[in-house]
Amino acid sequence: MKFPNKISQISLTALAALALSACETTTTVDPTPMQSPFDANHQALVILDTHLDTPALLVQPWFDITERHDYFTDYTQVDLPRMDEGGLDGGFWVLYTPQGPLTEDAYEATRDVALLRAMSVQKMVAANPEEFEIAKTADDAWRIGRSGKKVVIMSIENSYPLGTDLSLVETFYKLGVRMIGPVHSRNNQFADSATEIETVHDGLSPLGYELVEEANRLGMVVDGSHASQKSLADMISASKTPVVLSHSGTSAVYMHPRNIDDEHLKMLADSGGVIQMNALGAYLRELPANPERTEELMALRQTYSNPGDMTSEQYDEYLAARNEIDAKYPPAMAEFEDFYDQLTHALRLIGPDHVGIGPDWDGGGGVIGLEDVSDYPAITQRLRDDGYSWDDIQKIMGGNVLRLLAEAEAYAASLKDGSEG
Ligand SMILES: [Zn+2]
Repeated sequence: MKFPNKISQISLTALAALALSACETTTTVDPTPMQSPFDANHQALVILDTHLDTPALLVQPWFDITERHDYFTDYTQVDLPRMDEGGLDGGFWVLYTPQGPLTEDAYEATRDVALLRAMSVQKMVAANPEEFEIAKTADDAWRIGRSGKKVVIMSIENSYPLGTDLSLVETFYKLGVRMIGPVHSRNNQFADSATEIETVHDGLSPLGYELVEEANRLGMVVDGSHASQKSLADMISASKTPVVLSHSGTSAVYMHPRNIDDEHLKMLADSGGVIQMNALGAYLRELPANPERTEELMALRQTYSNPGDMTSEQYDEYLAARNEIDAKYPPAMAEFEDFYDQLTHALRLIGPDHVGIGPDWDGGGGVIGLEDVSDYPAITQRLRDDGYSWDDIQKIMGGNVLRLLAEAEAYAASLKDGSEG
């Protein structure tokens, strides 16, 4: 699920103008006078999330990442004050674009949307240099995370905007992308999707294999979330370095096409890979249908079709109307324990070296008790209650994915100095 956004044509001139228009905003963090040993240990972790869909909000005129927002009012889940509160040190900021037709014109228009997203992330960092820093390597991420600044690494969800021009992989690498997922909710030029009944390529397409090779050459982590299990298996066998599932679940706990069965989870772990646990309700349990709510939400979207085109006043009106629907027909939501059951299953099956956290913030994730990034301590507390050491928790909270990034870097470096391939 994605925040609705229909921006389709952005010129590169507009991108340049946007990059130059960075506003100057700073925030102050309240000192925490008395911390419990738990809080001190939790805050000392470098916690990285592997799927922050927040860049979709950065391009909205009404969103300011430095201000505290309220999930129950505006449905956003990530901002600086809440990151500080939850101990989230940053992570992988997603350049998501929806799947469109497989034509050159559509590729080009969507490529520009993806570039705009990358520029909006760069702008966020440029406007708040004391708060954010781009990490180009795993070592950068450890250093930045420990410095108190927020780690910014970009990732691509859906490689569709690359079209058939794989030289763009390096363009995005240079902009800060270090993780790349070939496919989203529909089959595309690179791979079959988990959520399509028909398969087109029986896994990765020939171009998909080239994409994996190019990602390996540059030192990017390949992301198998949203890919069909056959596509995932192909990625695992083709990639020279371990694959991540940046926001996925386990089908042993709840059967859903977006979740991964035990056989593929073991395959992932045997090759060194990591699953980052999703918290998107519909992938965690059967949620009751709510036709009245669906109908009213659809009518609301007819009236306010594109939040990206709204003024702040119009957006406030839209939110008020949406809050009213929530009050009348409350959304069915999964609960913390549904998320935790998935996490526990993966931890028991493949161990704490191969599991992490990727709830899909600002992309549809969030359950009761884990509504936004201020709730990370709830996960840590539960893992402590279950006997996990602080060392294991550090791996789960960010160490594992940074190991993957370091392995991707090492492989790319080995190609350059001729010691591999
Ligand atoms: Zn997703």
